[in-house]
Amino acid sequence: MINVHDPAWAAVAGVSRTILLAAPRSFCAGVERAIEVVDQLLAQREDPIYVRKQIVHNTHVVADLESRGAVFVDELDAVPQGATVVFSAHGVSPAVRTEAARRGLDVVDATCPLVAKVHAEAKRYAGRGDTVVLIGHAGHEEVEGTLGEAPSQTVLVESVEDVARVQVADPTRVSYLTQTTLSVDETADILTALRARFSQLKGPDSADICYATTNRQDALAAIASESDLVLVVGSTNSSNSVRLVELARRQGTPAYLLDDADGLRPAWLNDVRVIGLTAGASAPPRLVNGVIAALERLGPLEMVEREITRETIHFTLPTAVRPL
Ligand code: SF4
Repeated sequence: MINVHDPAWAAVAGVSRTILLAAPRSFCAGVERAIEVVDQLLAQREDPIYVRKQIVHNTHVVADLESRGAVFVDELDAVPQGATVVFSAHGVSPAVRTEAARRGLDVVDATCPLVAKVHAEAKRYAGRGDTVVLIGHAGHEEVEGTLGEAPSQTVLVESVEDVARVQVADPTRVSYLTQTTLSVDETADILTALRARFSQLKGPDSADICYATTNRQDALAAIASESDLVLVVGSTNSSNSVRLVELARRQGTPAYLLDDADGLRPAWLNDVRVIGLTAGASAPPRLVNGVIAALERLGPLEMVEREITRETIHFTLPTAVRPL
């Protein structure tokens, strides 16, 4: 919380600053849809609504839904037999679907359609006998879900260095997939290394990194080098938010991830005149406004928005929750 009577904040107050606002930023279509699924269920059903894992990777979104009655669980064994359970935007492995069916749960699937597309590719590639190289981060829920489509035929690659260690049954039958929220630049380097090793590598027409991840990275890349500081609103477990911080730092600009305005630190603002501001795809727009309002307390702010493209993508809700 900014307190201009605190000497540390007072030292960085009274300065005119410019905010370069990256656009697009904040919610993507998949996140809006997933939140709307839980919203609709809370409005339409009387029984408790369980959500497996965080519906999207944002502490504020989860706390808000929790305060309105959603019950977040880590695994299905915490959901009573026959209850309604929502699968998060990150998707689930077939084993989770089987377990839900075995326990008679009423599943409403909020998996982002762009994640579902990657699952379909995994099934197709594995079904034709390929080894599937999945580029992604170990332990991320989306990666666990995709790996689960063909676990014995899928290998995870996290870095260029990992490519040399990949073992495949037949080097002429290798396909690749990617997590949707990776760094576009780092993934391109990994793909170059994979193509050098497996000349017949097959995969999707373009990597599976989604439009929202790509747009947020491109929008930040357009302002990061002009900024003295970059602030990314998002939670620490949000992959695409963390990638934005890394991108700005690779461009040589100090960058920090913050959940909300309370995360601001006076030390970040020393000698800072131009602040690049963006938010990951799971961070609500109101939190960006909160950061701007907080910074306004430190002195005059000029706002400049740089929009590199306008997003018009919208995903329809699952039939089970469409309002009548
Ligand atoms: S970041 Fe991309 S893949 Fe993830 S929910 Fe948003 S649109 Fe879907």
